[in-house]
Amino acid sequence: MTAPAIRLAHLRKTFRGRRALDDVNLNVMPGEMVALIGASGSGKSTLLRHVSGLVAADRGESRVEVFGRLVQNRGVISADIRKVRADISFVFQQFNLVDRLPVITNVLTGMLHRLPAWRSLLRRFTPDDIACGVKALTRVGIVECACQRASTLSGGQQQRAAISRALVQQARIILADEPIASLDPESSRRIMELLAEINRESSVTVVVSLHQVEYAMRYCARTVALRAGVVVYDGPSSQLNAQLLRELYGAQSDELLSSDSRDTGAAPTRPIDVQPAYASARVNAWVEAHI
Ligand code: ADP
Ligand code: MG
Repeated sequence: MTAPAIRLAHLRKTFRGRRALDDVNLNVMPGEMVALIGASGSGKSTLLRHVSGLVAADRGESRVEVFGRLVQNRGVISADIRKVRADISFVFQQFNLVDRLPVITNVLTGMLHRLPAWRSLLRRFTPDDIACGVKALTRVGIVECACQRASTLSGGQQQRAAISRALVQQARIILADEPIASLDPESSRRIMELLAEINRESSVTVVVSLHQVEYAMRYCARTVALRAGVVVYDGPSSQLNAQLLRELYGAQSDELLSSDSRDTGAAPTRPIDVQPAYASARVNAWVEAHI
């Protein structure tokens, strides 16, 4: 039987006497795209951080596995965690790029974990590495920005760069923690389309936490809803409706179903009109000059 991509069993986490996660049991199968919804403070980020072993759960029955490999058990992080983490890519609300570095360098940091130590330390990238970064930037539609400093990009472009970094990492799981919370509706749609496309075409398992429910409904077949650290819904996103959300979230449901949900028009797909060969030459020139 196939091991789940993510397996959470009896996950509990208490911060200073307050339960942030309360007996969470969840299996995500390889190739699924799952939305994690819930109001602020419901435990979405805490759950995602437990999956990658950034946070240790309470002692007790808590157990986390990724592709059958142990991440943590009974509040103890696995000694093998670095290997497991190579399979997991994080995408954050605030993008987490190094502002002063060019976009391509930010993207290439995604492969540092699999380079020999000396190359990793010197940030020495081979032409093949650079080609891989250029390919990832082409795929997300911002290869023309490869040599710009990350700080000069718009929010939507920065999130695309962060997703390119995840592609370069070749992780089998992407955990995206409110990746569209800082973006306008148009950029939000593009980022969600991109995540869905990567999920579909590269069989990457995606868990994406979202504040706004309409994006879960539109892009993810399955939704898991958290309230005060408890899973209160786990099922088809198509069955989420205003009534259910009100039952789940009470007065907070209006905040979760934003006005943007009335706009169901699909975003036009933007053609990629840059020449990868040209971008590659520019990137190589930049790398020769700077590394
Ligand atoms: P969400 O991502 O859904 O907004 P979080 O996972 O950030 O929710 O937080 C869940 C709960 O855990 C909140 O009550 C939050 O205050 C608490 N919490 C999260 N991280 C910490 C921490 N490092 N220290 C103390 N409390 C925390
Ligand atoms: Mg959060």
